[in-house]
Amino acid sequence: MDTQILTPKKNLPASRVIQKIKGNKPGPTVLFFAGIHGNEPAGVNALARVFEDISAKENNLNGTIYGILGNLKALAEGKRFVDVDLNRLWTKANIKMVSNKKALLEEEKELLDLLDLLKEITKSENGPFYFIDYHTTSSKTLPFITINDSMINRKFAIQFPVPIVLGIEEHLDGPLLSFINQLGYVAIGFESGQHQDPEAVSNSVAFTYLTLVAAGVIGKSDLEDYDKYKMQLKNASNSVNDIFEVVYLHKITGMDVFKMLPGYESFQKINIGTHLATNNSEPVYASFDGMLFMPLYQNQGSDGFFIIRKIPAFALTLSAFLRKIKFDNLFTLLPGVKWEHRDKEILRVDLKVAKYMAKPFFHLLGYRVRYLDGQYLRMYNREKASKKKMYSNEEWW
Ligand SMILES: [Zn+2]
Repeated sequence: MDTQILTPKKNLPASRVIQKIKGNKPGPTVLFFAGIHGNEPAGVNALARVFEDISAKENNLNGTIYGILGNLKALAEGKRFVDVDLNRLWTKANIKMVSNKKALLEEEKELLDLLDLLKEITKSENGPFYFIDYHTTSSKTLPFITINDSMINRKFAIQFPVPIVLGIEEHLDGPLLSFINQLGYVAIGFESGQHQDPEAVSNSVAFTYLTLVAAGVIGKSDLEDYDKYKMQLKNASNSVNDIFEVVYLHKITGMDVFKMLPGYESFQKINIGTHLATNNSEPVYASFDGMLFMPLYQNQGSDGFFIIRKIPAFALTLSAFLRKIKFDNLFTLLPGVKWEHRDKEILRVDLKVAKYMAKPFFHLLGYRVRYLDGQYLRMYNREKASKKKMYSNEEWW
């Protein structure tokens, strides 16, 4: 096994790559990201631990793994970000803007560094590629996975004994994982617990090992603690192993003074009308029945709280089927619906004409729905972008 610390490139700080380990045999390339938010060190600590163990164990590894740090400046300061949130910059338009800009914000420099590194790795390594991004939350929470809802992500994610939450990215502009999904790769976010909770580190360690097995880097039988790691995540997530979707986000805008009432946790059941927070001293009540998700208990950040709901099993099966038969090709026969481009990746829906089209329906078919303005919906086809062929021989697919 060839283990090496990457030599720094001219514009990459030496510490950007925690470690790279190349196995003896060919196999996938797995990239683990940690610390995109500087106040979330759990993933960083977990990766340092796993990479050290694995290089010392001399396991028979297939393929190549990377541990990569996100926001170096913010990690050094222990803050979510220095100037702007690094996990909100990954849109094509913004990347183009930043590439042509002279005076860069701290996170814009980090963005360009990370982009260089991503390009270099995807060019020099072999697929299939897997991207894992580690986070923690300010509230107490069960560990959980977040994904953009494409079938490659869904099938890979259900191998882990933790809840899966779909659709967060629909409410956020420019998270890293959406960018990687648009490149066609499997991209999984893992939220391991509360920021400073030691269990967030051990959950991330367990998740890293299970990922190595799931992606085929290590055989299950070569990892003696496989069952222990699986049990740990199962226990930490109270055996909740369902798939949820976001039905509501309370956005904090401008000069709002937002404060959650104390004591709320992620995955806590709430009813419509539950008093959850105050916004500029006005009470904020739950507008849906469901589960509270990621209530904000820190100063930085603009997402107050989410409400999620379990997706019924029949809807999951139906959506897999509809995507397989490419049901959406029939859409454009409907009035008010047309492809924005000939590549059939973006649908444009005129709400004045197509009043009958509901958002959950497009979710079933794998679309990410964004409002253009009052009249139009713009919908991105996640399936079209997926490099399904890359994963077609993998066991989980
Ligand atoms: Zn985070």
